[in-house]
Amino acid sequence: MGYALIISEVRRGVFEERNLDAIGIANLAGKDAYLLIPEGNYNINGNMVDKIIKVKTEESMFLNPLIITGLITKIMDSSASPEMVIFTHSSSGIEMASYLAGKMGLPIITDISGYEKNGDIFFKSYYSDKVFGQFKKTKESPLILTVRSGSFKDFATDKGKQAEETTVEGLSGIEERSFIEYVEEEKTGVDITKAEFLLSLGRGVGNKDEIPKFEELAQLLKATISGSRPVVDKQWLPKERQVGTSGKTVKPKVYLAMGISGAFQHIAGMKDSECIIAVNKDPEAPIFQYAHYGIVGDANKIRDKLKDIIQGG
Ligand SMILES: Cc1cc2nc3c(=O)[nH]c(=O)nc-3n(C[C@H](O)[C@H](O)[C@H](O)COP(=O)(O)OP(=O)(O)OC[C@H]3O[C@@H](n4cnc5c(N)ncnc54)[C@H](O)[C@@H]3O)c2cc1C
Repeated sequence: MGYALIISEVRRGVFEERNLDAIGIANLAGKDAYLLIPEGNYNINGNMVDKIIKVKTEESMFLNPLIITGLITKIMDSSASPEMVIFTHSSSGIEMASYLAGKMGLPIITDISGYEKNGDIFFKSYYSDKVFGQFKKTKESPLILTVRSGSFKDFATDKGKQAEETTVEGLSGIEERSFIEYVEEEKTGVDITKAEFLLSLGRGVGNKDEIPKFEELAQLLKATISGSRPVVDKQWLPKERQVGTSGKTVKPKVYLAMGISGAFQHIAGMKDSECIIAVNKDPEAPIFQYAHYGIVGDANKIRDKLKDIIQGG
């Protein structure tokens, strides 16, 4: 059995939960799971992997594709090559995986969300889960993967024995790129993760001028406004209101999504809400697969109608 090298994602001493998806696919594919991680006091269940390779380096070095590529090359030169090198499908994971693939001329499949052991087939989706692609490894060289958050964590199970641990030296002398600092997001006092009722807005609401009208509805419903990433990128809402993989994970009692398509990066941040209600003019919108209640229609017209009803109009 070959091994899969998993490149950990760590931030400020925290072992990110999405690493479990990378460990999960290694287990599912029947590979020994070797975890590459900076030296430090990380809260890892050492029984989920076969080997932990600690690198004598600072955590921030694990954001540097040059360092990671150098480390992986060193590991490959000194021992057997991994069959897979697995990254999380996060901004930093995507950057490092693509750099490694380009630099070493290795095959890469990004954003894997499914795997079929019988046939060794990897799945990824296109167009917000409307079309799926199947991929198969055709060469003997290591395969680089980035893994979609939430797809494989259930397979990151206890192996019943503590992982072997080794420590390797870090890399020095890489000066083309250096870490400066983590930048904190601006906080204005609203914490969408604490809200019981979220009225969440997507690109489908049309334009920034519509937002105050949704705020009026939110007031009537005693809801807090949140949104999808495009709404934040367009600066219709502040960043702290963003739900999803690069925003916040929320679990309100009610999640009312208006004009949101349901891309997996958004779904990952709200799928555990107790009651999901979706309003979208496209009956095929993926969000309806996750919604407990769905309304096919124009979000702005439905907003005005709801306001009228609540106000007794
Ligand atoms: C690394 C990475 C991280 C990401 N992180 C996040 C994240 O944290 N959060 C996030 O949300 N996205 C994230 N994304 C973006 C994500 O892939 C989607 O692009 C995004 O979620 C789409 O937002 P949306 O649903 O508002 O817009 P769209 O996908 O454009 O959907 C708009 C929807 O509105 C509907 N619509 C249009 N007009 C109306 C109307 N009048 N009434 C009702 N419905 C209407 C349309 O049918 C459509 O379904 C990330 C992407 C990447 C690559």
